[in-house]
Amino acid sequence: MNEQATGTTGVSASGAERLRVCEIFHSIQGEADAVGWPTVFVRLTGCPLRCVWCDTEYSFQGGEWRDIDDLVADVGAFDTRHVCVTGGEPLAQKRCLLLLQRLCEAGHEVSLETSGALDVSGVDPRVRKVMDLKAPGSGEAARNLWSNLDHLQAHDQIKIVIADREDYEWARAAVREHALEQRCMVLFSPVHGKLAPRQLAEWILEDRLPVRLQMQMHKQLWGDAPGH
Ligand code: SF4
Repeated sequence: MNEQATGTTGVSASGAERLRVCEIFHSIQGEADAVGWPTVFVRLTGCPLRCVWCDTEYSFQGGEWRDIDDLVADVGAFDTRHVCVTGGEPLAQKRCLLLLQRLCEAGHEVSLETSGALDVSGVDPRVRKVMDLKAPGSGEAARNLWSNLDHLQAHDQIKIVIADREDYEWARAAVREHALEQRCMVLFSPVHGKLAPRQLAEWILEDRLPVRLQMQMHKQLWGDAPGH
């Protein structure tokens, strides 16, 4: 785990609660239930995983320490209802829970993008969790914290990123074994540039799977450029 992101220096000399932040930006939500909404993204630094297809490796290190009160004020300045806290793995910094709570209190519609490897039980229930389950092609399937399934609410979403047929079959088995669609919305997303979305669509239709195909809208709009 990135030591800088474990929260060991997450309190400033003045006692303010701080988080290490990679970037804050205003864009269109490209994924999940809130797709298409203008959204402020708060990307926290650090992730203890190393998915082989990760598209945000630049968030693993660096960034700057910010007081949580200042962060909430910065988000408010965008005058935008939807806010997405993402990473990296935002829950790798324990004070992320406090940020989520403060953003809810400020009246935002808040979502959290998380890997599914860290405990989500402490997340404010007002937050919409978008939780990954890692398929074998990620190289991180052993990190799935299955007990997290018991902490999902109807407004949350499970996302499985799929690189190939083996991943698809793993995901299909996970849906059936854990009755995932009865817990919340299930999203299947093809690895950009590796699995043709049309192929994934055909597999889903063939199997009558109760899941939703997701394409990453921000990649259609802006490619892989950071800040979107
Ligand atoms: S959990 Fe997310 S940020 Fe971390 S390595 Fe995997 S894809 Fe990248």
